Amino acid sequence: MAKRKIGSTECVHAGAGPCEDSSSITTPIVHSAPFTFESTKDLVELVEGRSVRRQPEYGRMGNPTVMCVERRLAALAGAENALLFASGMAAATTLFLSVLKSGDHIVMTSDSYQRTRDFAAGFMKKFGVTATVVPPTLESIEQAIGPTTRVLFTETPTNPYLYVIDIEGMARLGRERGLLTVVDSTFATPVNFRPLDFGADLVVHSATKYLGGHNDLIAGVLAGSASLIEPVSELLVTLGGICDPNTAFLLDRGIKTLALRVAKQNVNGQAVAEFLESHSKVSKVFYPGLESHPHHAIAKELMSGFGGVVTFLLNGDFEKTARLIDNIKIPKLGPSLGGVESLVEQAVIMGYWDVPRKEREKMGMYDNLVRLSLGIEDVEDIIADLDQALHKV
Ligand SMILES: *Cc1c(COP(=O)(O)O)cnc(C)c1O
Repeated sequence: MAKRKIGSTECVHAGAGPCEDSSSITTPIVHSAPFTFESTKDLVELVEGRSVRRQPEYGRMGNPTVMCVERRLAALAGAENALLFASGMAAATTLFLSVLKSGDHIVMTSDSYQRTRDFAAGFMKKFGVTATVVPPTLESIEQAIGPTTRVLFTETPTNPYLYVIDIEGMARLGRERGLLTVVDSTFATPVNFRPLDFGADLVVHSATKYLGGHNDLIAGVLAGSASLIEPVSELLVTLGGICDPNTAFLLDRGIKTLALRVAKQNVNGQAVAEFLESHSKVSKVFYPGLESHPHHAIAKELMSGFGGVVTFLLNGDFEKTARLIDNIKIPKLGPSLGGVESLVEQAVIMGYWDVPRKEREKMGMYDNLVRLSLGIEDVEDIIADLDQALHKV
């Protein structure tokens, strides 16, 4: 399958349509918990699934604003349907609880969002579900598949080393063995890579990151075929991790500039990665757009752009790395990524601080590891800023 480039026309207009009852050019924010009906007959028709109007009856079951944005997200993912959630974690956990049953096994790649991994490999044990966490390569995924495996789950590019998984190969494996292939594509966004085009069954996003894009909301997305989305949608309504209409509106507004933002972030990522790679105080840079990245070839084959996250190892210890970060001015110190404001952090502090050094180093969490999420600022300014901070180390 070929990579397909999503442009600004799609980001502004995809999926827009009949939900806008008004002449408003933007998606109206509908604040209503219950929705009323003309007559008992209308309500009965809705309950029996005979209603032509796709009207929600209660806010947890659906909301016109949220449904508009779900349609837009489905179009951008190349999916039949999409669901919006209160967070990326709500999307992933609701999905796992929906598709897995006692006795099932999940194969999941490492170098991934820690809470997703902990939920699948830890919490789900309570329900008799086991998980094997493997290095982020197709070979490791294949080797870990057993007779009870039900789901293959990966992020791509991964966090923080930005490995790029052969999703086409993974989806083929999934199909051959009758398994669900699920991809957390938060780092790629539909602009740089669309997992469903390459055969994945479902795609998850933390919309908090690039999709929202302004560091001002928390939301999650799941997209795929109608038949796979339907049971998850039922569980979402039961568990209640829904996205509220205000957040959905903010997300919708953010999505309209997604292609513009990501194009700039791709440019910033490449330029900053090249600058860092040539700097004497930096010992190693991880960015899929660099020829030195172990997955550069597959990234070039699959992706339309390499993204705005750059990870590097400083030539120095924890204190030197902290000094570097504290001297950086434009990227703010903080977790998260994908927004218009650049952010920088020592990856080891968030999530791995209480893991003994020897153990966290085995997971690649080194004291001198820096994750830089580039925003849309002018790249000359970011590079000058990084340069002055590196000089102070
Ligand atoms: C942030 C993130 C999540 C979790 O999403 P929330 O919106 O914070 O719940 C999951 N996966 C990846 C890759 C992330 O970056």
